[in-house]
Amino acid sequence: MPSHESFDVVIVGFGPAGATCANLLGTLGVRALAIDRSQEVYARPRAFALDHEIMRVFQNLGLADAILPHTAPFTPSEYYGAGGQLIKRLGSIPPPYPLGWPPNMVFNQPPVEAALRRRAGEHASVTIELGTDLVGLSQSSDGVELKLRNASGDERSVAARFVIGCDGASSTVRELLGIEMEDLQFDEPWLVVDMLVDERAAAKLPQVSVQYCEPARPTTYLIGTEGHRRWEIMLLPGENPRTMEADAEVWRLLARWLTPSEAKLWRAASYRFHALVAHEWRRGRVFLAGDAAHQQPPFIGQGMCQGVRDVANLAWKIDLALKGKAGDALLDTYAEERGAHVKRLTTAIKGIGRLICERDPAAARARDAKLLEEAGGEVRTQPRQHLIPPIEGGFVSREAHPANGTLFPQPTVRRAGKEVLLDEIAGCGFRVVLDHQLAAEAKAIEVLAAQFGAKTVCFDTNGLQECGSVLAAWFEKHACLAAIVRPDHYVYGVAATAEALERQLRAMASRL
Ligand SMILES: Cc1cc2nc3c(=O)[nH]c(=O)nc-3n(C[C@H](O)[C@H](O)[C@H](O)COP(=O)(O)OP(=O)(O)OC[C@H]3O[C@@H](n4cnc5c(N)ncnc54)[C@H](O)[C@@H]3O)c2cc1C
Repeated sequence: MPSHESFDVVIVGFGPAGATCANLLGTLGVRALAIDRSQEVYARPRAFALDHEIMRVFQNLGLADAILPHTAPFTPSEYYGAGGQLIKRLGSIPPPYPLGWPPNMVFNQPPVEAALRRRAGEHASVTIELGTDLVGLSQSSDGVELKLRNASGDERSVAARFVIGCDGASSTVRELLGIEMEDLQFDEPWLVVDMLVDERAAAKLPQVSVQYCEPARPTTYLIGTEGHRRWEIMLLPGENPRTMEADAEVWRLLARWLTPSEAKLWRAASYRFHALVAHEWRRGRVFLAGDAAHQQPPFIGQGMCQGVRDVANLAWKIDLALKGKAGDALLDTYAEERGAHVKRLTTAIKGIGRLICERDPAAARARDAKLLEEAGGEVRTQPRQHLIPPIEGGFVSREAHPANGTLFPQPTVRRAGKEVLLDEIAGCGFRVVLDHQLAAEAKAIEVLAAQFGAKTVCFDTNGLQECGSVLAAWFEKHACLAAIVRPDHYVYGVAATAEALERQLRAMASRL
């Protein structure tokens, strides 16, 4: 059946990854169709925490004000060992925050997803079709043909130059392409319980998040927004996941903390916490993103964050390819960068999972002793954010530097008496950011950078100034005065002189 409708991009799946993707492409003016088989946002929270990188993406989409009311700071996570003693503590670094937002936040997923969907609908270039299922897909070197089925069962074909499969863990796109998942070897059954507690009950519950690393039954306790509290409870051999979801079982498991008169059971659902990553993230013109490409245990709350990182990495690359400004090599860096990042972070998450999930009492005691010894007797707060790796390889400068592939800071800046976050001025395209020491050369750099499609932002004692010293300290730490920043805020490369910067810009342009 020939296609009558055609789009630059079809996004399959309108969950958090797909809706963020639609917004990013909409911001770039890309003609995109986003479809989802379900009509509504999934009404119950799955993701619980997000981090400052993700909040910065939401800010860039103009959603900070809509999303902030549904967030709260993530309390520290205290790990208690087999004998009930504190063995580990994860938390946040103190302000000033490097990316402009608290490094870790908890949030209420349904209203955040609803805000993402509403905003996506405001972009003139984005079409949204709910109740539409992808049922077939074929591609040639020129484009992709998708077969869609609506709620009444009617089928039609649409054409796309690129397709992004954001269709979740049981991805149809992945299945139609026959892409297998690599098993990173973690597979545990857990019960996830969300409770809405009143103020009196909240006051008697722990005031920080807790990992009960108790071999009898490892359990996580999380403090969410307002009265939302979550327990993630390991299921033991022989326990039937479905039976354990029953109200009576849930209240029995939670008797240590709550009685039915103190809280409303929002939902209880059993999950297999596993670690899977797609063998291929791109097949020709079709890409996988979000849970379709990877799944990881939720121990540090990174699953959805990884999906948002995927689409933030991919959207600008696809936009450049559509405009004929970049080729296949840049598109290939998506899988290279995101695949390696997901594997590295999943390995760190599995490490945390192994600590928590130890069921052998002797091994648990040995674990506790080892952690306490490593801490030198005093458990200090380790920043959760330090577990998140930079990107390696891919589209970063080949002039090796520790800043390459890290996230560029977002300080608060002052211009013409007004204080705003840097991205509000610098935007989300390619940027060259200059320390004030290069102000004299800024005009020449600006002309050069513009040839490569990059905007120049120069700090200047008479003009744009930083409030505080987040960025100044960053330039000092990295012994540089200029940074080339990608649209997804990752650093392409840094330079200490105007000449070195020019060399890097020319090298970057030759790689697009
Ligand atoms: C217990 C638990 C705790 C978690 N905690 C966290 C956390 O704290 N922080 C965090 O970042 N992440 C967390 N996660 C992970 C997070 O929830 C997921 O990673 C995230 O929701 C996945 O988003 P997605 O958009 O990739 O996929 P999904 O949300 O699954 O969306 C996929 C969409 O695709 C649609 N779809 C599927 N097939 C088709 C088709 N054929 N045609 C059309 N549409 C289709 C579906 O209807 C769905 O709307 C947690 C997960 C669990 C289970």
